[in-house]
Amino acid sequence: MSESTSDVCQDCGACCAHYRVSFYWGESDAHPGGTVPRHLTIPITPHRIAMRGTEQSPVRCVALEGSVGGKVGCTIYPQRSATCREFTAYTPECAKARGAHGLAPLAEPALAS
Ligand code: SF4
Repeated sequence: MSESTSDVCQDCGACCAHYRVSFYWGESDAHPGGTVPRHLTIPITPHRIAMRGTEQSPVRCVALEGSVGGKVGCTIYPQRSATCREFTAYTPECAKARGAHGLAPLAEPALAS
């Protein structure tokens, strides 16, 4: 769930229920400067962890609330990982996640004149 496109993301959530959301273990709050609550993560390699629920199938991040395609939210939004912050709406990856949930790709926003 990205930052700048949060309006459209709050009616979607497909990316949080499609991809494995992994990141460097230093992002866990078990480490100085880390923010992601440790108890919501699971180790997947010696140096990487993932959001619980995204390491399995069907995928659904434990921090995602609501119904995909309806009103959704991230319960740890200010603390989410760089992987989540960097995911961007309107990309092919966004469209792929939406498609997996039976949702059409997002229409590009109209450019301001
Ligand atoms: S932490 Fe939040 S933004 Fe990241 S996958 Fe989970 S619900 Fe989505």
